[in-house]
Amino acid sequence: MKTGQNNIMVVVRTRPLNQRELTKSDYETLKILDNRVVVLLDPGYEMNQDDVLRKNRNKEMQFAFDFAFDKETDQVEVYKNSAQLLIKGIFDGYNATVFAYGATGAGKTYTMIGTSESIGIMERSMDDLFQEYQQLSLTKDIIVRVSYIEIYNEQIKDLLTARDKNLDLREDPSQGVVVNGITEIEVKNTHEILHLLKIGNKHRTIESTGANEVSSRSHAVLQVQLQIKDKASGIQSEIQYSKLSLVDLAGSERAANTQNRGIRLIEGAKINQSLLVLGNCIQALSEAAEKGVKHPFIQYRGSKLTRLLKDSLGGNCRTVMIANVSPFINSFEDTYNTLNYANRAKNI
Ligand code: ADP
Ligand code: MG
Repeated sequence: MKTGQNNIMVVVRTRPLNQRELTKSDYETLKILDNRVVVLLDPGYEMNQDDVLRKNRNKEMQFAFDFAFDKETDQVEVYKNSAQLLIKGIFDGYNATVFAYGATGAGKTYTMIGTSESIGIMERSMDDLFQEYQQLSLTKDIIVRVSYIEIYNEQIKDLLTARDKNLDLREDPSQGVVVNGITEIEVKNTHEILHLLKIGNKHRTIESTGANEVSSRSHAVLQVQLQIKDKASGIQSEIQYSKLSLVDLAGSERAANTQNRGIRLIEGAKINQSLLVLGNCIQALSEAAEKGVKHPFIQYRGSKLTRLLKDSLGGNCRTVMIANVSPFINSFEDTYNTLNYANRAKNI
């Protein structure tokens, strides 16, 4: 990870077209150049010259990122060039966060969790984290604790218990932001974490919408907290706290696109509110880093997600934003919106 000023890294990953999409069209709306540049092609450009929304757009748009992964890039490669760069720092006291952002169906869960044949960032991060833990355990006492929550409709729910209670946030002078009454489980290996992840995923709120039969309407946040203390030093010695947050964000598509009605429309609006505030915070942090502002004022208050991650964004921490996109022709608007969001997050 680049250290110092630039603590936010933004990468884009495109997935391959699936069989269902290929039967409709094999046209792809984006190309990746040099592992860094995304070229977005507007498939409706010629037809839409009268459309006010598209009037000022170009047929081709280019965006540059820290990395851009094409559809052939495998899980190892994505991990190596994103989350893996954060693991060592956590043991040095840096908080770190990895987000998967994008529309439903773009590949967020595939990137974060993956499949049994092709595991994602969570399991790989945990493997590396525990390898580091093993090595350091010779000289240090390390406690690793895990929590797993969901933010749904601006309410925080503990995914490690089946209780449906809405939990509050508070700030602790040494530990930072804490979720009141949350289940925190001490773990000693990757296997134990994966087991908890499975339990949590069963408790996730899943509702079907018009866009996708089972689409995720909530943000899922896995937090791994470390407490590290020198073995040799006495009882009084300082404890170093740090945490890694791995976040599978809710689908970024607009509520309007999914023909939502009633309660789901409200949910959609709130989910977008969280994503909007997150985008604003990350953009403000990026700009501050660029200008060398040491203590920028950032509006974390506007959503539960940003309040929760207040001490895991900016300042003493490192952030990777993975923007997932689909090259499918009908997903063009989502892809366009996602690339713009990611583009705002990066340092210029
Ligand atoms: P999201 O979580 O953003 O809604 P998913 O991760 O569930 O999207 O991905 C949608 C589908 O596409 C899943 O069937 C997933 O396995 C597949 N998929 C996503 N990304 C890739 C990829 N890079 N390679 C192969 N299949 C992928
Ligand atoms: Mg998902």
